[in-house]
Amino acid sequence: MTAHPLHHVTAIAGDARRNLDVYTRVLGLRLVKKTVNFDDPSAYHFYYGDEAGAPGSILTFFPWEHAARGRLGAGETQETLFRVPAGALAWWADRLEAEGLDVSAPETRFGETALPFRDPDGMRLALVETPAAGDEPAWTTDEIPAERALRGMRGVRLLLRATGPTAAILGDVFGFQETGRDGSVIRMEATGAPYGTVVELVEAPGAMPARAGRGSVHHIAFRASDDAAQAAMADKLRQSHGLQTTEQRDRNYFRSVYFREPGGVLFEIATDSPGFAIDEARDALGKALKLPPQYEKHRAEIEKVLPGLG
Ligand code: ZN
Repeated sequence: MTAHPLHHVTAIAGDARRNLDVYTRVLGLRLVKKTVNFDDPSAYHFYYGDEAGAPGSILTFFPWEHAARGRLGAGETQETLFRVPAGALAWWADRLEAEGLDVSAPETRFGETALPFRDPDGMRLALVETPAAGDEPAWTTDEIPAERALRGMRGVRLLLRATGPTAAILGDVFGFQETGRDGSVIRMEATGAPYGTVVELVEAPGAMPARAGRGSVHHIAFRASDDAAQAAMADKLRQSHGLQTTEQRDRNYFRSVYFREPGGVLFEIATDSPGFAIDEARDALGKALKLPPQYEKHRAEIEKVLPGLG
């Protein structure tokens, strides 16, 4: 069956300006869209990714200045992993430490070297050396050359009380296959795309439930090539797993349905089209504040309420 790797990960941040600095300057991602939370236009929605904002490269944030810190627990994404070229991690460890981030010792996981760290809101991330990444095009900055630059997401780690029901959805609906087990961690992988192909399931039967807040992942999204593929997955969820998705919502840059998987994690299925170039030229992505049509007439008020980024 066709595999449906990750499309994006969406998380909650605190201070908007600090979030922008960490993900663009420190980590070197491109800000591909600056818009507002469609359900709360007094808050930003930032999209970071590769040069084009390709599916699987996208990490998005809702920065809420006064959000309380989240607490990691069952039914939540524990870690978001990005790909870097082989040999880049020692340089990254020094850089992230020099920037005051909380960096852990490198770990070997399923034969790959990962560098876990946290952003200033406590969000758990890791950089993973992926040999193929070095040959791929890179979004570079003054501080980060191509041989070190991030190349899209590797994937995510989910923390679950039981992994079986979640693994069944990943396999049956999204086309992931189990490729390894290490203690309480199961690795599942999708084929057919460079980015977002790994979902690891960490079983923690005694874990407390997650409490969402600053530093928490809000949801993860899987790719659908088009509306028909999305509808087929929604049908399969309903018929084979008894799970109902939401109605389709237009997110301007993709169209989405949502459902809570059996382990408690909020899953989304997002279309690849139309993408981020729909309202901005590719070389100007992320430069202007973009508003969906329903908010354009309130632009002046919205701009007054949003925190300054300068
Ligand atoms: Zn989303």
